[in-house]
Amino acid sequence: MNRRQLLASLGISGLALSLKGRSQTIASLTKPVNKPIVLSTWYNQSKTANVPAWKILSEGGTALDAVEAGVQVSENDPENCCVGLGANPDREGIVTLDACIMDHKYQIGSVAALEQIKSPIHVARLVMEKTPHVMLVGAGAQQFAVQNGMELQGLELSFHAKRAYEEWLRKSEYKPVMNIEKGHGPYIAPGDEANEFNHDTIGMIAMDKNGNLSGACTTSGMGFKMRGRIGDSPIIGAGLYVDNEVGAATATGQGEEVIRICGSFLVVEFMRQGMSPEQACKKAVERIKKNTPKDANTIQVGFIAINKKGEYGGYALHRNFDYGVTDGNGDTKKIDSKFMMQ
Ligand code: ASP
Repeated sequence: MNRRQLLASLGISGLALSLKGRSQTIASLTKPVNKPIVLSTWYNQSKTANVPAWKILSEGGTALDAVEAGVQVSENDPENCCVGLGANPDREGIVTLDACIMDHKYQIGSVAALEQIKSPIHVARLVMEKTPHVMLVGAGAQQFAVQNGMELQGLELSFHAKRAYEEWLRKSEYKPVMNIEKGHGPYIAPGDEANEFNHDTIGMIAMDKNGNLSGACTTSGMGFKMRGRIGDSPIIGAGLYVDNEVGAATATGQGEEVIRICGSFLVVEFMRQGMSPEQACKKAVERIKKNTPKDANTIQVGFIAINKKGEYGGYALHRNFDYGVTDGNGDTKKIDSKFMMQ
């Protein structure tokens, strides 16, 4: 008679099994929280953007300061195709920027269609901290930024954005296919390495040493977009969401699809139901695939998420989505996201 049979014969197998289950639960409850930690979309950006964020976190700073400083690296990079004033313009040749920020106390700030201002994420933070509102757009957002000491920049396109725009103008094709094939996106000037990657928004989420979560998301939106088009990135609940009791999530890819399902909010709610960050991201991607009125073969969406234990994950509709995670000793790991469609 083996142990299980003996326990069964004594009528205590259920008890033994439930004790085993409880010891596993206790083990996972007592596992130390993985903090501080920061992660951001697209490793190509994370590898530099996570650096100042990590510095702030490792010195005991707040997740809010970390994510703002982190995404500003991409905003300030004149070679970034898709974030900040160096990014690709809209159809009319004007760079318009969107950003949002959220902290651990449900405080939110957002700007959209902001022109000629270098750091939209900073303006979003000012909206959060200095106004009774949560979102400013267009000329009003710009005026607010200038009133708060930010300089109005020129309208010239960066070297790379100009080349990409001129190339796009040749056909003026409005075909928002993104990130499925590196180097084969419709917006890429041939041979233009800075634009080789047709991505994208930087979404960054972090947990500080006090266990508080914050997130930031900033973008120029889809390259050569229709003038006035706003994607998910400045929309709280779509491009970014933080609930300090549960976790945080951010998105990249086809903004319309992310907005359609309230993507980042949904990921956080799935985590609230007990899913791991990766499972939660996968469920949100599944919902997009199932419900999009578009051909799911032609769109890309990716989510990353973190929970209160400092566990993280991501998931994308198609291949070629990656993200960077910095924790532990401060090294930034490149994670190739799992994906749903071949
Ligand atoms: N989500 C952004 C938008 O739709 C773009 C991106 O992430 O590539 O504007």
